[in-house]
This record gives sequence, structure tokens and C-alpha cells, in this order.
Amino acid sequence: MQETTATAQAMNVLKDIQGAVFTKAEPEVKLAHIMQILAQSFKADATACYVSVDDNYLELLSQYGLEGYPHKGNIRYGEGFIGEIAASQRSLFRTGIADKTFKMSKAFKAALGAPLLRWNRTFGTIIIIHKDEHQYTQTDVETLETVALFLTSVLSSDEMLEYKKKLVKSRGLKVKDHLKGVILNKGYGIGHAVVHQRRQALTKIFAENKQAELDRLEDAKERMNKSLDEKFNATRLGIGEHTDILETYRMFAKDKGWYQKISTHIENGLTAEAAVERAYEDTWNRLSASSDIYLKERLHDLRDVADRLRTFLSGEDNKSEAPQRYDDIIIVAQTMGPADLMDYDYKKIRGLIIEEGTPTMHVAIVAKALNIPVIAKIRGIFKDVKEGELLGLDGQEGFVYIDPPEDIIQKFKSRQKNMSLLLEQLKALKKYPNKTLDGTRINLNINVGLDFDFDYLDSTKCDGIGLYRTEIPFMSSESMPDVEKQIGFYKKLMDKAGNKRVVFRSLDVGSDKRLPYWSDMKEDNPAIGWRSIRITLDRRAILRKQMKAFLRAAAGKELNVMFPMIASLEEFLDAKETLMLELEKEKKKGENVPSKVRVGLMIEVPSIIFQLDDVLQYADFISVGTNDLAQFIFACDRGNPRITDRYDVLSAPFLRVMKTIVEKADAAKVECSVCGEMASNPVEAMVLIGLGFRKLSVSGSAYGPVKSMIRSLRVQDIAEYVKTLLKSPKKSLRPQLIAYAHDHGIAI
Ligand code: PEP
Ligand code: MG
Repeated sequence: MQETTATAQAMNVLKDIQGAVFTKAEPEVKLAHIMQILAQSFKADATACYVSVDDNYLELLSQYGLEGYPHKGNIRYGEGFIGEIAASQRSLFRTGIADKTFKMSKAFKAALGAPLLRWNRTFGTIIIIHKDEHQYTQTDVETLETVALFLTSVLSSDEMLEYKKKLVKSRGLKVKDHLKGVILNKGYGIGHAVVHQRRQALTKIFAENKQAELDRLEDAKERMNKSLDEKFNATRLGIGEHTDILETYRMFAKDKGWYQKISTHIENGLTAEAAVERAYEDTWNRLSASSDIYLKERLHDLRDVADRLRTFLSGEDNKSEAPQRYDDIIIVAQTMGPADLMDYDYKKIRGLIIEEGTPTMHVAIVAKALNIPVIAKIRGIFKDVKEGELLGLDGQEGFVYIDPPEDIIQKFKSRQKNMSLLLEQLKALKKYPNKTLDGTRINLNINVGLDFDFDYLDSTKCDGIGLYRTEIPFMSSESMPDVEKQIGFYKKLMDKAGNKRVVFRSLDVGSDKRLPYWSDMKEDNPAIGWRSIRITLDRRAILRKQMKAFLRAAAGKELNVMFPMIASLEEFLDAKETLMLELEKEKKKGENVPSKVRVGLMIEVPSIIFQLDDVLQYADFISVGTNDLAQFIFACDRGNPRITDRYDVLSAPFLRVMKTIVEKADAAKVECSVCGEMASNPVEAMVLIGLGFRKLSVSGSAYGPVKSMIRSLRVQDIAEYVKTLLKSPKKSLRPQLIAYAHDHGIAI
């Protein structure tokens, strides 16, 4: 290929490839033609295109000139030259080096390959191969990368995806019928797949008229923001944390810096659509390596804004209402912004599958508010699922069934029905007390943080608020809230709670809970780093201000303050003293103080269990934070999906720890509760009661199921049964406990 610029070279190749794509030929013929064009354009002897399957390995999709030479049909990520391109997502070239994937040393002397990247994921690789020694220029690399960009769009068409699927099946590769993911919101759903892909294939990359592109950008930006304003103003979601999320999103869609970046790429010769992609990629490259979950959430929102903007650029916005051919839909997205969900008729949404989802993801929070089950982290599903395909979503166990057989469909339908029945029963349950069949009263509280959690105070008739995660309003503020602002948050809850007890937890930030206005501190082990009480004891002014705000918000009423992540008695006494000093100051100033102040701590760090007898002498109550406690007892990161299922709190070691805690608290006559997620699952809650816990604090949505369980339980019996399990060597006692519940008619 003669030495021209990469742009000119790429334009020539793309013109020829486009010619091949728009013929009426069968996919394999088109692909073979494209491979040949590539070989000719690069004066290469052979070319190959591999596509990724399951994000683990590559399958040869098409080739030119490799017949008769040994080459592999499938290659693991990381294996040899081709696998390395897929794994590293970088272009690479090799000259004269032996490679496991084909005998380059004998037959071929040089190869250049580029990754096919679709939405930041490896979609495949494209390779050009030479028999003789060959030096690749930077222009060759850039040209191949631009070709790869276009080829990805070609291969993402329905026709090509279908061909790929058939090819993979015809090679006898196992196609899984159900896949395991991570549950972000519980429930069951059955419906037709709607593949959420707002993005159109990039057909035109280089601009002919820069000014025209800039004008198109300006026009699309204006129309997009107008439509967003209209969409969000027509609120149908009620008030809650999701409202703040949508507001932030709207500001994001207006961000000047972002439009400036896009304009710069247009000035450099790209079309507006390609410039949007490049601007997104720049930001993605910068931020994706960060472990800061808030930055990552921003990336999801940015992806959504970029897609939306491209819809408006292409004029497709008139059709921006997603096609809804079915009455029951399950949306499958690689990633999704919160506004995207609002493009669908939410009454038809039976579930949401987000390949790259995380619990704090904004769209997941909005979906929760709409009661839509959500499953995340199913690798490859986005690429493999087909529009309209029937999907079953089991948001209790975390499975997605593709094209489920009739028996599974029936099972889902009956479970869906059971869930609606359960909701009805729960409404009916409201008037009954939280009492077991043998008359033990269980004090059942709820955990709150988001504004919409407060509504559970009305719908549940709970005994109180066992945990108010005060970091949530801090996290959704734009800057550190001052005392006045904090009083506003706390008083709102106190007023809503009326006579019910509210436990305020002091600021529990750090690790996965970041304050957007605090610069990110890089720590090797943030979960055991500078977080929670460690921060507030070191930054005492923050703690003092929060204590003052608590005292003022609870003026004339009982105040309950709980300190998180306490690792030693000294820490607890230190924190408690800060509260007491603030109380004294308030009294001296003549302020109206709470009628009573109770001080407690969370049991989350194993060391405190070994000092519990001492601590209990100074604490009015304790509450077990099983989320953190389990992560430290098992040394198992609570946010790492790879090891989520490795250890179970329903196993002898953890149950024995819990038993020790409740027995010590009972002996010291100190109130003891569980406010971690363990209490929110009926099976676990059943075991906690069996161990002796009489106070639980659960998430609002778990209140009903836990209450039903309590009302069908006999404490004596479960206590006896749990005792028999405490020496079990089993990694998980869950199956036995579920069987026990079924045998004894306990509603779990
Ligand atoms: C816990 O760790 O169990 C807990 C309730 O606190 P958080 O989940 O907020 O860390
Ligand atoms: Mg915790």
C-alpha cells in the first residue's frame, strides 16, 4: 500500500468494503469478499476475522488465503498473537515470531492485527498476514483500526449476528440455556427480549463539511435537551433518590466541556456521530480504570447521553420511543442510563438485564423504584440474545433463561402469581402483630437511607427505624452539608417517624461509599482502609457537626445514635464522648435537647467481638452489620461478584459468631439487633430468630416477606434445629434450612 495518510488509505478500503456489504449475497460470501478486499488493499497474502464467544474465546468467522495452512478455528483470549489482541484490546504486529495460533514461523513471516471493539468490549479481531518479512507503518496500524471500527458495525447487523450464532452452534459449541448473574432487584419476569441499542452503526466516519457537522451537533443538542426537559417534567415516577439522579443526568446532558470535546473532534475531520464516539472513548479511557464507583456511574450516564445525542443526530429521535411489539418485555442492555428506561412503557417491562450493571447504578435505582426485577453481570448475554426471544428472569436466584422450555415458563408464571398473591397477603398482614406462632414478639424495624424508603413507614407499620444510613443524604448532596442542612434531613425523618424509635448512624463513608465532593484517595485495601468512624474520629469537626445536628433534630424526643465500624472499646468511648460533649454544649447554650440520648455501636469488625463484654458495659444497644461482618469474618470482599457465592452466612462459623454476640448481649441485658442484609432474607431471618435475636431491621421491601415468615414460625422448634447445625462441616446450610422451612410450613 502506498504511503498516504491513514485517513485517505482507510477511505479507499472502506469504499470497497461498503460495496461488498451492500450486495445481496449470503453473509459468508460477503465476509469472504471483505477478507479478500482487505488482503488486496494491504497487499497481504492472507486475512482472518475472528469473533468473540462468551468473552472467553474467539471463533474464526472468515478468512482469505489460509486454506492449506495450519491455523486454529478457536482461540482463547490471551492465547498467542490473536488471543492477545482480544485480551489487551490493542493493535499488535508480529514479525517472524512463532505463534501458537498458526504456524507463522513456517508459512508466514509477519502479521498485523487490530481488535474489533464494540461498546468497550472485544467483539473480535481482524488480522492481515504476510508470507515475507514485512514492516508495518503507523499508517497501516491506523488504517486497520479505522477499518476495524467499520467492520464492527457490519458484524453487529442482525444478519451477521444470526450468521455468527449459527456458525458457533454448527461447530458443536455448547449453548447455555440459563446463565447466572448478580441480582440487583428481586422478582420474577417472563417476556420478550428488547435489545437496548439506541446506537446506530457508524456508517460515516469522516466529514466532508466541518461547519455542517458543527451545525448538526448544535441542532441535535438543542432538540435532545428540549426532549429531556419534557420527558423529565412529565414525572410519573414519584419522588425519591431516583429524582435526584435524573436531575443530575439532565445537567450532564447540558455539559459545555463535553460539547467542546465533540466539536474539537469535528474540527479534526470526523463526522458529528464519530466525534461523539471519540469524545466518549476519551472519557472512558480516562475514567474506566478508576475504582471509584461514582465516576463509573457517571460513565454509564455519559454513555446514555452519547447514545441519545446520536439518535438526535441521525434524525431517529422521531422514533425514539423504543419499539414495543410485545406486551411483556425484558430489556437487555450492555449498559444503560437512567433516562433510557423512561423511553419504554414501564407498565410493559417485566425485567431488566444489564450486562455491566452494579447495585449503585443509577438505572438500577430507578428500576427499583418501579419494582422491576434487575439482573446484572451476565457476560456475553447482550451479544448473544436476539430481539424478540423469550426470556425468563429469576430475580430470586439470579438466573436468566434464554428461550425457556414450557415447564420453566409455567414455573415462572406461577411464581409471578405467587408474588402478586404475596403482596396482597402482605397488605392483609398489616393489621397483625409481628408474633411467631408460639407467641414470641419480634421487634421488626426498617432500614432507610433514600427518601423513598421513608414511605415504608406508612406501608409497613414497622416498629421503628433500626438504621438510618446518614451517608446517603451526604452522598446525594453537591457539597458537604452544613449543620442546618443536616438538621433538615434528620428532622424530616424524625417528623415522619412520630413516636417510633429512629437509630441514626454516624457518617459511614469510605470504601465503596464515596462523597462526590471529596477527592478520591487511592488505597490498596479501601474496605479495611480509612473509612467510616476512622474518618470521622480523625476529622472530628465532621463528627461534632453531625452530633450537633442529631441533637437539634431530636430536640425534646429520644435520640439514638449508633457508631459504625467500631474496632475497639477506646474508639467507641471516644466517639461517645464527642456526642456527650456536644450535648453538654447544647445544654449550656440553653438549647432544647433530646429527652433521652441512647448510644450504641455496630458490630461489624471482628476484633470488637473479643471485647464485647467490656463494650456492653458502656453501650445502650448494639446492632450487627452482617454485610461488613461477613466480609471480614470470611475475608471476602462484599462487592466482588466473583466470590459472592463462595461463603455463606448460613454456615456454622458465621452462625456461631452470631450466637456469641446475641448471648453476650442478652447476658449483659443490652438490646441487640441485626441490621445487615442477613435480616432481610426470610431464611436468614428465621435462623437469626433461632439463634436468639428478637430485634431485626430490614430493608423496606423485605419487611413483608420477613413478617410472613415470623408469623408462620415456631421459635422453640427453630432454636432446637439451628442448634443441631452449629457443628456442621458444610460450606452452606442453606439447602437444609430451606427444606426445614418447607417441611414446617414456614413462609420463606
Ligand atoms: C452492614 O455492614 O451490615 C451494614 C448494615 O452497613 P452498610 O451495609 O451500610 O455498610
Ligand atoms: Mg457496614
